[in-house]
Amino acid sequence: MIVVMEQDATADQIQHMAERIESLGLKSHVIHGTEHTVIAAIGEKREHMKESLESGAGVSKVVPIMAPYKIASREVKPEPTCVSVGSLSVGGGKLGVIAGPCSVESEEQLMECAHAVKAAGGTALRGGAFKPRTSPYSFQGLKEEGLKILAAAREETGLSIVTEVLATDDVDMVASYADVLQIGARNMQNYRLLEAVGNVDSAVLLKRGPSASMDELLLAAEYILNEGNQNVMLCERGIRTFEGHTRFTLPLASVTYLHHKTHLPIVIDPSHGTGHAYMVPDMAVAAAAIKTDGLIIEMHPRPDEAFSDGYQSLDFDMFNETMSRIKSMANNVGMTI
Ligand code: PEP
Ligand code: MN
Repeated sequence: MIVVMEQDATADQIQHMAERIESLGLKSHVIHGTEHTVIAAIGEKREHMKESLESGAGVSKVVPIMAPYKIASREVKPEPTCVSVGSLSVGGGKLGVIAGPCSVESEEQLMECAHAVKAAGGTALRGGAFKPRTSPYSFQGLKEEGLKILAAAREETGLSIVTEVLATDDVDMVASYADVLQIGARNMQNYRLLEAVGNVDSAVLLKRGPSASMDELLLAAEYILNEGNQNVMLCERGIRTFEGHTRFTLPLASVTYLHHKTHLPIVIDPSHGTGHAYMVPDMAVAAAAIKTDGLIIEMHPRPDEAFSDGYQSLDFDMFNETMSRIKSMANNVGMTI
């Protein structure tokens, strides 16, 4: 249920209602909107509860939340959420551009990327230190050494750091280096991991599982929000279909759909979504045209030498060119980078 407070409700009345919700055995989430403050009452609802809450001082109305996800729903918070961490702002008219290599391979490789991202106008640096690889014999990442290199690159360029956390046990350690914790596609439904990142201060980039529905993605986000972390970005990175001309099938309609259903910002990953460097620029610009809130793009100083995902990584010239196109499209649709 959503308890919609009157426009002139006092802080005491809001606090009192939050406590009343908790006393009914429900969880309360206070959301301050531009017009009204609303309190989401989450948990198993029983018949008498609506009436009991409706009579509270300062309450305008109590309405049910129809969507299966609650805190993520636009019904609870109609205004878009902007996730802002250091150099990166995603959502509410801000287009964040996260770029960097698939994997951190060495200090030299990452620093080259960091300077190239910064020079081209990207707003955050990505790089995997813990890599989820299909084969146990493939490069697994530099682990904590990779995180130290990422932190050094932030120090040098001021770019916020986005990196994947693979396991619940590593969350505190990865969070001590990173600004944004990426939950990879393979882990979208690892519920203990989602709860763990819901309890840290870092922002979270939650990638869609390759066979997950939109409701499943939003319910996965709900696990994080429900623990208290409200800085969640959703990432469309392509799904598995019968089609083989791309590595995954990248549904750009996800941007429009998610903007309709949730206030959380949406990031498009055209690199994993297509699996081919030559397709990445057009998909990035197309996503900007429909006002995606963010992009995450793989790039590498020498893609043919990359330890992972070289075939879908842009070289620096392609990245520069793509950034110019993204900037001019953002400008056309009224977004700022
Ligand atoms: C990545 O970003 O390099 C990655 C492994 O992505 P995904 O989880 O979407 O496959
Ligand atoms: Mn990759």
